Amino acid sequence: MTYVDGVWGWCVVRYIPAAHHSSGSNSPVNRVVIHATCPDVGFPSASRKGRAVSTANYFASPSAGGSAHYVCDVGETVQCLSESTIGWHAPPNPHSLGIEICADGGSHASFRVPGHAYTREQWLDPRVWPAVERAAILCRQLCDKYNVPKRKLSVADLKAGKRGVCGHTDVTDAWHQSDHDDPGPWFPWDRFMAVVNGGSGESEELTVADVKALHDQIKQLSAQLTGSVNKLHHDVGVVQLQNGDLGKRVDALSWVKNPVTGKLWRTKDALWSVWYYVLECRSRIDRLESAVNGLKK
Ligand SMILES: [Zn+2]
Repeated sequence: MTYVDGVWGWCVVRYIPAAHHSSGSNSPVNRVVIHATCPDVGFPSASRKGRAVSTANYFASPSAGGSAHYVCDVGETVQCLSESTIGWHAPPNPHSLGIEICADGGSHASFRVPGHAYTREQWLDPRVWPAVERAAILCRQLCDKYNVPKRKLSVADLKAGKRGVCGHTDVTDAWHQSDHDDPGPWFPWDRFMAVVNGGSGESEELTVADVKALHDQIKQLSAQLTGSVNKLHHDVGVVQLQNGDLGKRVDALSWVKNPVTGKLWRTKDALWSVWYYVLECRSRIDRLESAVNGLKK
């Protein structure tokens, strides 16, 4: 069983409002549209941490040509529009939510260099996949919230008015109101939809023992982190009174070790990630329990 940071890491940490949206109601939500930002810088730079904020900053400028509800890179999710607002991401826009994945994913219209379109292997690379997984978990939560079926829609499905999940390219091919073809021909829809439907995106399944061990470990870590974050906030508050810059330095020094990957994390990011992962583990345990109960019958 292996984990990448993205499994732990879904949380919205910033809201940077986009400049462009349309008036009217976005309700009911009928589809979640997946995009790639296509900065045309190639693999893996297009997905690195910081790209979500820079894309959101671009959307915030009046000269931007579009907007989206969320942007995900490997380290962060940024919200740019309220879900009740009609974005400018894949016309016809009403009744849809747009998630941008920071990646070079188009094949022609959004590209000057065709070789920059991520291959399947690149999409699944540990330097990119956490962004995809972050988007998929967000997509799952949006589907749950708005009762959108967790299925990948074809162009024919879209034209038939079916509700579900699709790519910008599918919307383009259904209505020809834009020419973008992101997230591109090699986007791993099978793996993405597996996560949307509650899987980990890994090929190995979790055992009950794995879940219990992780749950216990997380509970313990979460308690430790709460203590250290409270102390840190106190310390930072005291230091900031004396010198704002010192406060920032203390914050930058506060790292914790991810018990699974061994990588270092900012304490507050880790705390949020662990919380979301605890929720995820709980729902896994519930599912396993009901499967066990089903077997008993
Ligand atoms: Zn797009």
